[in-house]
Amino acid sequence: MKASLPEINSESKNKPAYKASEYTPLSGTNLENKNESTYKASGCASLSGMLPEEILAAVKPDKPYRANQIFKAIQSGAADFSLMTTLPASLIKSLCDNFCVTSSMVAKVFRDDTNAGAGRKPENGKLSILLHDKNIIECVLLSDLKERKTACISTQAGCAMGCLFCKTGESGLARDLTASEIVDQFLFLEKEFGEISNIVFMGMGEPLDNIETLFKAAEVLNHKEGKGIGYRRMTLSTCGLADKVAYIADNGPPMRLAVSLNCGNQKKREQVMPIAKKFDLAGLKESLLYYQRKRGKRITLEYVLIKGFNTDKDDVKSLRDFIQGLSVIVNIIPWNRVPGSSFQTPSQKEIDFFVKLLDANQISYSIRHKKAQKIRGACGQLSSETHYQP
Ligand code: SAH
Ligand code: SF4
Repeated sequence: MKASLPEINSESKNKPAYKASEYTPLSGTNLENKNESTYKASGCASLSGMLPEEILAAVKPDKPYRANQIFKAIQSGAADFSLMTTLPASLIKSLCDNFCVTSSMVAKVFRDDTNAGAGRKPENGKLSILLHDKNIIECVLLSDLKERKTACISTQAGCAMGCLFCKTGESGLARDLTASEIVDQFLFLEKEFGEISNIVFMGMGEPLDNIETLFKAAEVLNHKEGKGIGYRRMTLSTCGLADKVAYIADNGPPMRLAVSLNCGNQKKREQVMPIAKKFDLAGLKESLLYYQRKRGKRITLEYVLIKGFNTDKDDVKSLRDFIQGLSVIVNIIPWNRVPGSSFQTPSQKEIDFFVKLLDANQISYSIRHKKAQKIRGACGQLSSETHYQP
């Protein structure tokens, strides 16, 4: 497949943000949960991304244990300081005057009950979230057949990596998200859809391009006085920033790692993933070997299966060569439609053919079933093309 490649623009961090006003909403908006004391359009010192000790340093309450109370209240979903009735009135006033719980707000809720069976509701959903600077991000709730819920969280507004098959990469990066903006997505999703047990940092953006902030948000979500989500229930997915893979092997918390390989052939990978020119397969493999030596954990390799592009015998052969010496499971993701894209989803026959080849080559795999496609919430479909208009 011939593909015209966009340049990865190192200046894209300075690109103007998507503006909500530039787009037409899909349908009515859902802004009734706006609350002036928790959401301030100009941005504010948001406490939702802070650990108890950071709240203590920022708020400086008379009694240090108050910081813990504030942390617990926020993480258990209190959207407003005035709801924190265990706090003295003077502290509540000072919090309202100087801080906010969150600087983001839910602009629209999407639900997809396609897979809901009689008496069961394994629902999928998506939230469009309006940030204080009018950028829009999306996050997704995915339920499996055991009704276990996973939050798919964004780490950036947009993405600088420009993968040709991905909607998020189409318009570049607006900016990195803050720890609060990352934590808020989880809190909003739980409020809307109920208790969530797992997190995948696989929404909009490249998690390793915003790595320290991601670690901070993960620490908040892991904290035992808050949500207490175990690191083993968190997975981050990267397009393959080899230097950062090595960095997290040394410094990262024990969360799981997924790498979007998508192609085991260097030339072909470069065609659809511009970042592959900077971090080639040899360097990526070296970093994964290092990661595995340090962490001893099996790595997930994501493989977006694109019709007529990476579905052949030769593709399986190069995949097999790449994984030699690594402990991996390959996660097959049949390409999800992106409006205006010339890529195509493989037919079931093509998927079956590919999977047979994997079997024949003794490659362990799983297939990611289409979820939330109806609401444009599946892998690669998230965007800032907003469903909100101010
Ligand atoms: N930036 C990170 C995480 C977000 S993308 C990364 O690239 O890994 C999450 C996953 O969606 C990646 O595995 C990516 O390859 C996949 N993806 C992107 N566009 C897709 C599409 N149109 N259909 C299916 N998967 C897609
Ligand atoms: Fe960015 Fe991941 Fe999409 Fe590539 S696949 S553009 S890295 S979000």
